Amino acid sequence: MRWVDTHCHLDAPEFAGDVDGVVGRARAAGVCMQVLPAVVPDHFAAVQQLAHQHGLAYALGTHPLWLRQASDQAVQALADALVAHAADPRLVAVGEIGLDHFVPALQSPEARAAQETLYAEQLRLAHAGGWPVILHVRRSADTLLKHLRRLHAQGRGLAGGIAHAFNGSEQQAMALVDLGLKLGFGGAMTFDRALQIRRLAQSLPAEALVLETDAPDIPPHWLYRTAEQRANHPEATTGRNEPAELPRIAHTLAGLRGWSLEETAARTTANALAALPRLAALMPASAV
Ligand SMILES: [Zn+2]
Repeated sequence: MRWVDTHCHLDAPEFAGDVDGVVGRARAAGVCMQVLPAVVPDHFAAVQQLAHQHGLAYALGTHPLWLRQASDQAVQALADALVAHAADPRLVAVGEIGLDHFVPALQSPEARAAQETLYAEQLRLAHAGGWPVILHVRRSADTLLKHLRRLHAQGRGLAGGIAHAFNGSEQQAMALVDLGLKLGFGGAMTFDRALQIRRLAQSLPAEALVLETDAPDIPPHWLYRTAEQRANHPEATTGRNEPAELPRIAHTLAGLRGWSLEETAARTTANALAALPRLAALMPASAV
């Protein structure tokens, strides 16, 4: 079985000094490909280098939560990088871009307007260059969709991509699917109480689902420790999530869909390659 982790932040400080181990454990678990989205132009070189060093893929963009760390040159930096690296086969998408209406620090009208401008301009660059997008959507699906629809209405279609860690309504999910996007499911789906996410994973069209860890974030339930556990056992910190967890996370999806693990791997890998077409040429031959 071959798995694709469509969203992993290997450049995060949590993985410093252990990237060889992380990638090795992922490969041993059958996770033969990872997509590394950048979060801010300062990290562009790091994700590109990691992708080349370890035979992986990367995406370039500025994440809404990095709005404050990004200079007002962030959009120009993306435009320049997309031109400079257009021929790099490991560059597979524009991302991670999007809107976050959940984090309190970014909820002021000014911060929302700044996020929306940053997202819309990066989306426009992706559309102009024919790049798929990797989208961050948190309590923001309607505004996010407004910009996707606006581009879609201009004639030439969107190049697709992935709305990662999606947790909106079924109607919003289907609106994204209708625009040609896949939805990313990961550790959140493994919690019994995540009713909405599990319902989506169960009911969306099979062609719309891709898997991701979002490592080191969004730990699956077996790595998570409650506040009470942490208080009673100071050594019980929440474990670091990593791409090697993907097959175990996929067990949840297999159970929800009534698929075998083999079928789950085959379907979600095919969907990942459909969402990010450049991945196909990067996969080990036996995985396609
Ligand atoms: Zn992310």
